Amino acid sequence: MTPFDASSPRARPAPAGLTDSLGRTVSYLRLSVTDRCDLRCVYCMAEHMTFLPKAEVLTLEELDRIASVFISQGVRKLRLTGGEPLVRKGLMGLVQRLSGHLQTGALDELTLTTNGTRLAIFAEALAGFGVRRVNVSMDTLDPELFRRLTRGGDLAQVQAGIAAARAAGIAVKINAVALARDNAAEIPALIQWAHARGMGITLIETMPMGEIDEDRTDQFLSLADVRRDLESYWTLRDLTVSTGGPARYVEIAETGGRLGLITPMTHNFCEGCNRVRLTCTGTLHTCLGQEDATDLRAVIRAGATDAELVAAIAGGVDRKPKGHDFRIDRGTAPSVSRHMSTTGG
Ligand code: SAM
Ligand code: SF4
Repeated sequence: MTPFDASSPRARPAPAGLTDSLGRTVSYLRLSVTDRCDLRCVYCMAEHMTFLPKAEVLTLEELDRIASVFISQGVRKLRLTGGEPLVRKGLMGLVQRLSGHLQTGALDELTLTTNGTRLAIFAEALAGFGVRRVNVSMDTLDPELFRRLTRGGDLAQVQAGIAAARAAGIAVKINAVALARDNAAEIPALIQWAHARGMGITLIETMPMGEIDEDRTDQFLSLADVRRDLESYWTLRDLTVSTGGPARYVEIAETGGRLGLITPMTHNFCEGCNRVRLTCTGTLHTCLGQEDATDLRAVIRAGATDAELVAAIAGGVDRKPKGHDFRIDRGTAPSVSRHMSTTGG
């Protein structure tokens, strides 16, 4: 097999860089590997979800092919998400294949956002494939509240997953959705819990994505208000680090740790946005808060060559919207009809 043999899985067009019409370079792909999940978080899913028929979901080979073409076009960071990525059968095979791009130096980081329930099972394997960091979602330290928020989840299982990941040498960052009624009072304790263990933590404002059973407006908690409250007893110092996304970071002097604040409802990050998302059905979304879409599954299932796939991706990226249009004040109607679990958080 020559280096230019098109049948080689790693023979890809030379990196050209994906740049949109506003000059933003796309270097970060979030890849949803499944819409399924073993939890049913109240802000994310309805209690009785209808999941997609298997034929609609990309196969592991298709996920690998599309991700690898993105990497060939300059994507340097890949995050697997979902749904819950660790419930996808055969995921470790995909991680192993994608880890090849870490070895060649084409990819800087292969990471995961997970609810942690199956992390104890997979932590060693993930570490072996070069995963150095994961984000684990955990909104509360109260087992009863955790069970209610996730509709049945076991907090101890998640915490065992976190411990297993750390024991395997994987750095863990905690993600917590800020919920006005449920965990607002507990936020300082969550921060202390993470920082005392040497973990960063990021708070996320609720986003109006997908129909759920609740009205999100009464759970919306502004992180500007949270920050003001924290500043009444802690010393927060703004950090200049940016990941090209909606997170802003501060360091808390008293806890010695880092806190991220994700405020997707504000517009202060769109001009530096470096990321795109691929749903588990192969739809490319270049903005979390817009309905823009490019169907890459149709492209590959029609037998496209890698060059044709590159052209479809480049066309989608070129149409990346200037910014999103989230508004929480529309009552129960979501701004974007697709669920976060379909798009990939
Ligand atoms: N199942 C994995 C998990 O929970 O980490 C990965 C997928 S989940 C959709 C990714 C992140 O999105 C989680 O941190 C979750 O809390 C967050 N999320 C889900 N629905 C959300 C919403 N409507 N608003 C804000 N964040 C949301
Ligand atoms: Fe599942 Fe993650 Fe959505 Fe919770 S936030 S229901 S864990 S996909």
